[in-house]
Amino acid sequence: MAGIRTVLIIDSNGSDRGIVAGFLEEYYNVIDTGSIKEAYSILSASTGGIVAVILDITKDDSYGEEMLHFIKEREKLSRIPVIMTADTESEETEISALSAGASDFLYKPYSPVIVKKRLDNIISLNENASIANDVQKDHLTGVYSEEAFCQKAAKILEENPLAEYAVVYSDIENFGLIKDLFGENASIANDVQKDHLTGVYSEEAFCQKAAKILEENPLAEYAVVYSDIENFGLIKDLFGENAGNNILVYMARVFKHFIGRDELCGRMEADHFVLFLKYDKEALNENLESVVKIINDFPISMNIMLRFGVYKIEDSNMPVHAMTGRALVTVETIRGMYGQYVAYYNNKIWEKQVHEQEIINCMEDALKEKQFMVYFQPKYDIGSERVAGAEALVRWQHPLKGFMNPAEFIPLFEKNGFITELDKYVWDTTCGYIESWIKNGYPVVPISVNVSRTDIYNPGFIEIILGIIRKHNLEPEHIHLEITETAYTDNPKQIIEVVKQLKLIGFVIEMDDFGSGYSSLNMLNELPIDILKLDMGFVQGDMGTNSNNILSFIIGLAKWMDYAVVAEGIETEEQIQMLRNMDCNFVQGYYYAKPMPPDEFEAYMLRHNVLDKIDEIHAGNIEGIKFKKSQGVMLIVDDLALNRKILSKSFSSYFQIVEKENGADALEYVKENYKNIDVIMLDLVMPVMDGFTFMKHLGSDKRYKDIPIIVTSQGGEKSVEKSFELGATDFVEKPYNLRIILHRVQNAVIASRK
Ligand code: C2E
Ligand code: CA
Ligand code: CA
Repeated sequence: MAGIRTVLIIDSNGSDRGIVAGFLEEYYNVIDTGSIKEAYSILSASTGGIVAVILDITKDDSYGEEMLHFIKEREKLSRIPVIMTADTESEETEISALSAGASDFLYKPYSPVIVKKRLDNIISLNENASIANDVQKDHLTGVYSEEAFCQKAAKILEENPLAEYAVVYSDIENFGLIKDLFGENASIANDVQKDHLTGVYSEEAFCQKAAKILEENPLAEYAVVYSDIENFGLIKDLFGENAGNNILVYMARVFKHFIGRDELCGRMEADHFVLFLKYDKEALNENLESVVKIINDFPISMNIMLRFGVYKIEDSNMPVHAMTGRALVTVETIRGMYGQYVAYYNNKIWEKQVHEQEIINCMEDALKEKQFMVYFQPKYDIGSERVAGAEALVRWQHPLKGFMNPAEFIPLFEKNGFITELDKYVWDTTCGYIESWIKNGYPVVPISVNVSRTDIYNPGFIEIILGIIRKHNLEPEHIHLEITETAYTDNPKQIIEVVKQLKLIGFVIEMDDFGSGYSSLNMLNELPIDILKLDMGFVQGDMGTNSNNILSFIIGLAKWMDYAVVAEGIETEEQIQMLRNMDCNFVQGYYYAKPMPPDEFEAYMLRHNVLDKIDEIHAGNIEGIKFKKSQGVMLIVDDLALNRKILSKSFSSYFQIVEKENGADALEYVKENYKNIDVIMLDLVMPVMDGFTFMKHLGSDKRYKDIPIIVTSQGGEKSVEKSFELGATDFVEKPYNLRIILHRVQNAVIASRK
């Protein structure tokens, strides 16, 4: 594999060079030289690994310009940012360097920390700019997409008001005939082997090429690596499809950077990439660690949870897709294991596959022999800390294998369909217990049972569950149905239909593991559910440094849509305190009680305070709006429907809401209606016209200057600074905290009314 990103340091002063090189070596691959001549030959020979040049011009500032010209005039080098350094401050030199194309200027003696910081900023700015450039290009031909063409043309027109331009449209009249004669792929045969979005190999091409390399290098050792972003679905939901695509493009770039001769990168589907690499465990570990770091430099305020499964090729005659299959099984072994990002295929995984086969062989007998047991874990109302419900969780007491937790067998049963049988058994057993508790006069709370998606696809499902309820003389209110989030995204229409009917009959529906990976926040308000049960990862802080923001955003959103919220996996007092502050309704976790066998649970219920009626709890509201309802308009400008929905729902009782999907539409609206607008909520990244351009337009017309603009976007010092420069009244970071945004709007509107 090729090295990490390279920084070239050119400085004739050896000791200065050494200081910076020594410091940067920890983060970058550093090449340093004291000779300008050598620098030229290094640059000429570069094949793309150089990400920045640090050039000292203390001795002779004529080097500077020559070197800059050299770099900027060559296609393959022109994007490399150049930072110049000198030992005496001179405004003149600095300005001339910057205007000749230098990215930054630093003076000696420099602080290595500042050099590193500036360097990081410039490199990431440059990399992101080139990604942004790439997604605007047509995949096949590399020229601008229609959208980008229009934007760029508009910009040129704006900047050159006096020049005359024309638009030319071209068309090949006999293109159809050409395609018929020579075939669609005549000229693009090479391209169809590539993944359109990221430019790496498609699955098919990857397998073919890998097989060929293996054949040609029978003695070399290779490995197949499978990569997966565990929280990709959530990232797309929170930051948009575009952000998701940009991450994939960025990832492909990072992977390609690490790929050497006779090594390959391919994309399977969604966020899954495969790598075919020469096997060297130490280098591989090091490189994967760097990849994780670099990918997490992507400017987004959430951890990108990368996982890798490595399969070292033992038998090169095995079909390549079987190898990627093994790498996939391997990556699955660390799914949900936070903090662990690489797994190697080993004997254990092989043994596990054998063990799984044994489980499948004996599952039916186990059910007949009643080896399965139901445990109960209480749920609490967070305010009163009284028991408000419980979840039924299955256990397997195997005569030879011993006590097994569901993680060992439920996923298998979900794959082979046996789960429907087991679930029926669990529901029936659970209802049997409830019936006996009622008979004995014990306190009774609703018991949540787990429902797999296979259960819901079963056309007889509603009849089955109603049959069980009736058999035990119960009402639907006695049980809650926990349906995993993934079920909703698989076949939303069918699930929604079934769930609607279940609700009509009187069942309470909980969405389980919300946010675990394939959530679709956008779908949330179409789902007929009552309770949202958050994925354990949120509370346990595994979603990154920003997970509290995201947690409070999601709880806020859920409350706004009138869902009650359950948090599970609660293990500490601090977690409870935090959730209480966020207005969460229910909690479940080891802190209060572990899942316990039925007799223990009965005793537990007799000893503890139990909530009488679930209805006592209402989804709370966010208080604190002091300003009066206005006749005026809140203009919401955001390309993501979900974001608009949240804001419009939050503010519809205070303003008339108008929504626009981009800056251009919003601008049209402002021109006609500026007198009625109380406040503008503005996203920054939007197609057609972005938020900055929109603000520029507003700023150029005095009539609009009193309209408060609240920018709502991902943070980053640059965007905040630039927003304020362009006249924003305030800046609220996404994901929003609804409380904060209410206060900001309140302040902005009141201030502007004075
Ligand atoms: P789940 O529905 O998300 O259930 C919550 C899991 O978290 C349970 O694991 C529970 O024991 C565990 N848990 C509870 N509190 C804490 C805590 O404070 N910390 C930690 N680290 N874990 C906590 P369990 O019982 O091993 O069940 C695993 C999964 O198996 C369940 O996840 C559920 O998806 C599935 N499952 C269990 N019973 C059934 C069943 O009867 N039918 C179906 N279809 N699935 C079931
Ligand atoms: Ca559950
Ligand atoms: Ca869960």
